[in-house]
Amino acid sequence: MKNSEATEKLRAIRDELLAFTTSPLYSYRTKNHYLPVVGEGSHEASIMFIGEAPGRNEAQTGRPFCGMAGKILDELLAHINLDRKSVYITNIVKDRPPENRDPTPEEIVVYGPFLDRQIEIIKPKVIATLGRFSMQYIMEHLDLSLHIEPISIAHGKLYTANVSYGKVEVVPLYHPASAVYSRALLPIHKKDIEILKQFI
Ligand code: URA
Repeated sequence: MKNSEATEKLRAIRDELLAFTTSPLYSYRTKNHYLPVVGEGSHEASIMFIGEAPGRNEAQTGRPFCGMAGKILDELLAHINLDRKSVYITNIVKDRPPENRDPTPEEIVVYGPFLDRQIEIIKPKVIATLGRFSMQYIMEHLDLSLHIEPISIAHGKLYTANVSYGKVEVVPLYHPASAVYSRALLPIHKKDIEILKQFI
């Protein structure tokens, strides 16, 4: 797909999300003057990061991972000399759940198809999931259900999935927010993300 075609398709997703009045999170979005967080980065990225759902900073700016968890993600990208502009970063759920609660199964069902389309448009070679919700969603949707393990075992491993455009590698990573609360976890995050070096 040409870059301009990808950009057009991603814009269509943005417009649909802006007008997504039937979403269970739509009234919370408008009441708080929040924005949907579609995703950000290269439309031809080989590496795609998928988080859970936007927090307050993200919903206020419309940009993924721009708050505290984003600072940790930036630190991890810098650790492997990976330029944030060269990757694509998004979430499963595109609107902020109230008080940063976990996304509900219903929210994952309604927003998941937008993510599926983003994957088909960008066609990454590797998907790094951030946290257990994203790991669970991606592994189930890419026919890797039989390989699902607790994130404490799966983190930093590579799983290969077949997709419409060939193959994609899936790397489950811990959610960067875990290192906001415990900096002692940072060395584990850094070691895990090193597996992405081979795709740069
Ligand atoms: N946590 C997420 O999962 N996504 C964001 O965009 C920010 C924080």
